[in-house]
Amino acid sequence: MDTRESICLFCPLGCDIAFRVRGDEVIGPEFCGPAETHAGRVCGRGLYGTELLNHPQRIATPLVRKDGRLHETSWDTALEAAAAGLRKVLETSGPDAIAVVTEPNRSLADLGAASRLAQAVGTGEIFCAFEPQDWPMLSDEADAGVSAIEEASCVLVIGDLFASHPVLAKEVIEAKYTARGNSLFVIDPRRSNTAWYASSHVQNRAGTEALVLALILKAVVESGKGGSAPAWLNEFDADAFAGTCGVSRSDIARIARSFVDAEKAAVVFAPPARGVSDVGLVASLVRLLAGVAGQGKECVCLAAGGNSRGATAMARSEGWKPVSELVEGLCSGKYRALVSLGADLYESYPTEALRGALSSLDYSVSFSMFHGLLEQSASVVLGESSWLESDGAAELYAGRVADWKTVGRPSWATRPVAVGVDALMSALGVAGQSGGKRVSAAAAVEMQWSARLEAVRQAAASVPADGMSLVALPAAGHSGSGSVTGHINWASQMFPTGFAEMSAEAAAAVGARDGDTLVVHSGNADVELTLKVTDRLAQDTVAVPAYDTKARQLFDWAHKDGWFGTGPAVVRVSRK
Ligand code: SF4
Repeated sequence: MDTRESICLFCPLGCDIAFRVRGDEVIGPEFCGPAETHAGRVCGRGLYGTELLNHPQRIATPLVRKDGRLHETSWDTALEAAAAGLRKVLETSGPDAIAVVTEPNRSLADLGAASRLAQAVGTGEIFCAFEPQDWPMLSDEADAGVSAIEEASCVLVIGDLFASHPVLAKEVIEAKYTARGNSLFVIDPRRSNTAWYASSHVQNRAGTEALVLALILKAVVESGKGGSAPAWLNEFDADAFAGTCGVSRSDIARIARSFVDAEKAAVVFAPPARGVSDVGLVASLVRLLAGVAGQGKECVCLAAGGNSRGATAMARSEGWKPVSELVEGLCSGKYRALVSLGADLYESYPTEALRGALSSLDYSVSFSMFHGLLEQSASVVLGESSWLESDGAAELYAGRVADWKTVGRPSWATRPVAVGVDALMSALGVAGQSGGKRVSAAAAVEMQWSARLEAVRQAAASVPADGMSLVALPAAGHSGSGSVTGHINWASQMFPTGFAEMSAEAAAAVGARDGDTLVVHSGNADVELTLKVTDRLAQDTVAVPAYDTKARQLFDWAHKDGWFGTGPAVVRVSRK
């Protein structure tokens, strides 16, 4: 028996994880020593990730559609079929009728392969299926690492960090209890597990995090202990903002005082998929707050996708387009063929229009670990290996680049995406280059602070009296109930689907009791969900799991202002 080390790529913390192996066969997980990243801790997702190896539902053999059915075949035959199908689309509709999409829980080599393929085919239509909050949050600016939390005597958390990035819970709890007077503040419309541990929980109205941060920043500046005030800080009415957020200015002043007075403080931003209006603005405010509050103040911005930082950097430097444009283009019939490299578009952005668009493509090739909606109509399906079955590298949070070695041979006839893509390019007779076409990064756009804050305020204030704000419960690395992690036994038991949380008062207002079936109406779908009565939410807010495809139908997946919206949806709830 041998031990091999790798990492978990289900979220950007990239925990070290070791495996017991016999030859090339992986027997099970092993714990890393305490000197490793995050002291050798992993959460259930990482621990049970081994289930993906030799999973009985893995796509084991290449499949080609003939007479409406998928038939097992060899890699060579499948690649020839894929190449012939794509060539036909190239001849009839041109290269830009072919879209290439990948997703961020994969290695830099796989992402690079996506770029090479798009360039070789000649299409500029290349996309990455980020969770909605990841793309606007990540910037070129380096964030601090876990040491910023460990050393802080004041930690301010926006989001439910203990659910989204669980291995950091220990650092946060220790930072609070290491010394008398240390503090932990949590901003979240839901009384989350993270909020349970807070010295003070700011239960803001859904979607108003940017306003709360602007108020804290203003209080820091007014304390006279921070740096100079940006001019826009004087342009908003703090009392009106506090009223919209549903927070007290004295609570805000207390947080600002603790933050600015701390020798070392950290602000941690871990947004859920939906529920925070204008995530890009919140991330900028988090960075500004850390800068204005002076020396020893750091910020930590945590994405959901494992290699989201690497994928964002690649997408921005190589001119990849926002995946919201792909969803729109598919629904409008702009694309005739799709090459999907591990992405599950329907589970990620579920609408009936997308469901129909995927099934009416002229040609589609899917590299995938499991069967999803696309595979039900795909022309060619190729089984992909997990990151544990190949060497790789990824850019994790705080700019840490991790590389790893294969822990086990690829299961059955699966191949890493990068290997499969190179073989597909050979079959197509096109040469791949070491990267996609590089475009200069977009010039920095000056942040319209006041206008964006006002848009957040108006969105929060415009929920009608008979409406409620719908927010998403986080579960990083589990972006859809049909996604890769949805096939892990532990995940499917730990992350139940088909429910909506509401307060007892809100439930009583619609005449419903715990366990009743609700119909949740949004502008996008009417979805039946089981009521879970909770004491964690205010009466004007409903929460649904972000990883539940059915619940995700309630959110708007339209391309607007260059990206998906990230704020809460407005819904009406009735008892069935
Ligand atoms: S999901 Fe994130 S926190 Fe959990 S083991 Fe994987 S990398 Fe670590």
